[in-house]
Amino acid sequence: MTDLTVLPNGSLMADPGERGRFGGHGGRFVPESLIPACAELEEAFREAWADQRFRRDLDRLLAVYAGRPTALTPAWRLSAELGINVLLKREDLAHTGSHKINNVLGQALLARRMGKTRLIAETGAGQHGVATATAAALLGLEATVYMGAKDVERQALNVFRMELLGAEVIPVTGGSRTLKDATSEALRHWVTRVDDTHYCIGSVMGPHPYPWIVRELQRVVGEEARAQCAAELRTGVPDYVVACIGGGSNAAGTFAGFVDTPAQLIGVEAEGGAAVAFGRVGVLHGFRSYVLQDEDGQVSEAHSIAAGLDYPGIGPEHAFLNDSGRARYVTVSDEEVIPAVRRLARTEGILPALESAHAIAWVIRAAESGELPPFCTVLVTLSGRGDKDIHTIREAA
Ligand SMILES: *Cc1c(COP(=O)(O)O)cnc(C)c1O
Repeated sequence: MTDLTVLPNGSLMADPGERGRFGGHGGRFVPESLIPACAELEEAFREAWADQRFRRDLDRLLAVYAGRPTALTPAWRLSAELGINVLLKREDLAHTGSHKINNVLGQALLARRMGKTRLIAETGAGQHGVATATAAALLGLEATVYMGAKDVERQALNVFRMELLGAEVIPVTGGSRTLKDATSEALRHWVTRVDDTHYCIGSVMGPHPYPWIVRELQRVVGEEARAQCAAELRTGVPDYVVACIGGGSNAAGTFAGFVDTPAQLIGVEAEGGAAVAFGRVGVLHGFRSYVLQDEDGQVSEAHSIAAGLDYPGIGPEHAFLNDSGRARYVTVSDEEVIPAVRRLARTEGILPALESAHAIAWVIRAAESGELPPFCTVLVTLSGRGDKDIHTIREAA
């Protein structure tokens, strides 16, 4: 167990301070040339986040453009089958089909406030790339998206979407030609263009201040869910709060709304990308956390049926929540995911993203094994819709 008082103001999921540390995790492990850009960004975010006008502008975009608040839907028939009470936080209903728009709108507004005219982003399956291209179009910014060459081939439709939205997509041919390499390339490019370019990171990862900024921008998911649960539940707070984890942004945003309640927080990793279960502490993309690596400390490839969970690391704050015991991290295998998609589709008429189906799959397993007590209440963040995954689901059938 780590000492919980190591955070500057003593509370969990608070401001991680100037060094951006979450217990022994986090930090800012970047080339000397990026330190000023990170410091400038931190200061700009601190100012903006304390500025009521910035908050009002963002809230307005989230409402009139992204479609917030998203619904909290009781999963009536699935609940009856499992003998528990499942509530779904519907990020699948947000514009572009996932929670990613919350983060991207905030960072794009921040970039504009800082006088930047270009956004760059990394993307794996293309969901964060599409969200970034969308926000750039909305605010009249240029967008360049780095994507592993292998992913460019696998996700041709999302490449076309980004181009339709006016973004330039750059295939990254180094390394394993996937998300890990796209992220490294975006960081390298940022070094050369910090004057007019904001690097819009897609999850609670990267050097400080990114894990903190992205968690704060996703906090809206947890805060809305908290208020909606208060209205929906006799107890006011669910017994369990469950979310899937790639880098960990939808989970971090959700947990932020419940970290000060008695709710048990559960993060669900893909078995093939389970940094908490199978990783060791290391440095990746500018931060220290649990990372999948081989015996020589080389970062391993993650493998998941859900492209959005194909990341060998986990956000540093999750590593800390794990060490402190405040949140628990579990894994779900590819084989459990497709049945979970089908079950939610047939019981509720909702087709979840393969990523989100990991959270559903854990709830089903835990309810059926008796790990979840009868009649308990479980909030699940449904991070995105499954339309993008139709081909994968059909092939797996
Ligand atoms: C990108 C993505 C994820 C994984 O990202 P986190 O930062 O862990 O939230 C999960 N679900 C969906 C639908 C995604 O697009």
